[in-house]
Formats: sequence, structure tokens, C-alpha cells
Amino acid sequence: MKKIIGAIFTTFLMLSINQAFCWGFYAHGKINYYAVFLLPPEMMILYKPNISFLEEHATDPDKRRYAVPDEGPRHYIDIDYYGTYPYPLLPRNWKEAVEKYSEDSLVLHGIVPWHIQKMLYRLTEAFVKKDFAMIMKNSAEIGHYIADAHVPLHASSNHNGQLTNQKGIHGFWESRVPELIAEKEFDFFIGKANYINNPGNFIWARVLESAHAADSVLLIERQLTQDFADDKKYAFEERNGLVIKQYSSAFTIAYNKKLDNMVEKRMRQSIYAIASFWYTAWVNAGQPDLKSLANKKMTDEESLQFEQLNQSWKTGSRMIGREE
Ligand SMILES: [Zn+2]
Repeated sequence: MKKIIGAIFTTFLMLSINQAFCWGFYAHGKINYYAVFLLPPEMMILYKPNISFLEEHATDPDKRRYAVPDEGPRHYIDIDYYGTYPYPLLPRNWKEAVEKYSEDSLVLHGIVPWHIQKMLYRLTEAFVKKDFAMIMKNSAEIGHYIADAHVPLHASSNHNGQLTNQKGIHGFWESRVPELIAEKEFDFFIGKANYINNPGNFIWARVLESAHAADSVLLIERQLTQDFADDKKYAFEERNGLVIKQYSSAFTIAYNKKLDNMVEKRMRQSIYAIASFWYTAWVNAGQPDLKSLANKKMTDEESLQFEQLNQSWKTGSRMIGREE
């Protein structure tokens, strides 16, 4: 019995830790993984042999949140701080936004749309230098931030329903729904990557879609809760081989349906956007020939850095930045 209680407690702990991450580890990995299939052959030659790396390291920016204080704000923007949709008061250009609100204030409310543009620059530089490790690292990580920008609750100050008595909805939308339904029902085959002429406009458009959708994400959960008794909304069900209390399957399926498959649509859009940003960086770098990099491996030193990040995350340093 003690063992069981111990296991349940550990799992609660794990669940609350899991909920601190954007899209959940499962969805972030899948999104980067499927993005590879949208690339042209000239890029596929490098990305396909490294697809496991891109999947596995899709969550590195979340792991870094434990160790780096600046990391948190790169994953979201509390855009409702700047007025009402479509937030005309907020300059989309970083310098203009800094002049108007100060850098400290911008950072306080999240900087995801700007950070993605910085990551695009870094990835482009990595292609110019034909630096294998930096291409892989920046590809995996820009994938993370782009996927986060597609999550409605990453564009709302009510990011975990904490202002409306809906705590837990963050992990519910981005982890529980895809983990239960994606494998069986979601379709991840999505045409081709496209060149993005104006990456700033592109990513702001996605962030505004997210901000616009945040109300439905919250409202539909509230409405559905009225149709479900508490013991039907939550249930002890199996997750990763353990039985834990979580949103019940029935509630999760009903929510996904009422949302009109919004989670699947946002995952698909994330995949398309990521592949298109990778492709855009490569084109802007002058379409370097990647054949010579195809069989490259990380050096011991580079591998060690990834391992250190993983270890610092596993030892569970205190989470820095806002909790989700
Ligand atoms: Zn994140």
C-alpha cells in the first residue's frame, strides 16, 4: 500500500512538473519530427539522418528554464497586457517596442515572437558557416519556440486558467489532448515547406491567431465542465505505465471535439511553420550544399554540453520564471 501511495505521489509530482512545459514533451518531439518530411531533398539529406536528434532536443529550451533565468520569457507573450485584439498599440518591431515599453517590461510579459526571429538569424548563420552542431541545435530549438507560439495559452496572461479557476488547463490542452488522441486520429502529412518572405509578419500572425483562440480554449472547458460531474471530469487512468488522477478520457475526447480539433490544427500549423523557417534560413544562407555534413556526428565536447543540460534538468533544479 505504501508503495502505491508513494507511486501516486511521485506521479502527481511528475504530472505537475510535466505541466510546467509547453506543448508537453510528447508533442514537441512529434512536431519537430514531422517537420523534417516537408523539406526539399537538398535539406532532407542532412535532416533525415538526424531526425532523432531533432525530436529529442525539441524540449531543450524547456529543460534550460531550470538553469537560465532569461529562458522563461522566450516561450510566451502575455499579449492581453497590451490592450485588446489585435493589439494595435504594441509595435511588432523590437526596437520600436523597446522604445515604447522598455526592454524590462517587454521581457516581463514574454518575448516569443521576437525571440523566434533571433533564432532564425542564428540558424541562418549556422548554415553560412556550415556548422553541423549549430545547425542541429538551432533547428531543434527554433522548432520549440515556433511550436510554443502556436499554443493559445502561450499568448494569454491567463496561461494556466489561474484567473478563472481552471488551473491545469495549460497541460490539459497541450499535453493530455495530444497524448491521448494524436497517435490514433491526427493527420501529420502536410505538403511542403515554403519560403517565408517576411518571417516577422508570419510569426506575429500566428501569435495573433493564438491570442484569438485563447478565449475558446478557456470557455469551452468551462462549458463542458457543467456537463460532467467531478468524478467524470477527472479519473484515475493509466499514463506512461502508471495509474494517476487526470482529466478523464471521456472529458478529453469531448473537449477535443468541441474545440473542433483545434489542437490538431495548431500542431499541423506548427509543423508547417517550423519546416518553412528551417527552409527560409537555408535559402537566406545561400542554399549551402549539405551533403558533406550528412554523416557528421557531434564532437565529444558538443555531446557533453547536451548531456550537462539534461543532467541539470534531471536533478530538478528549481524552476525559474513563471510556472505554467
Ligand atoms: Zn516552451
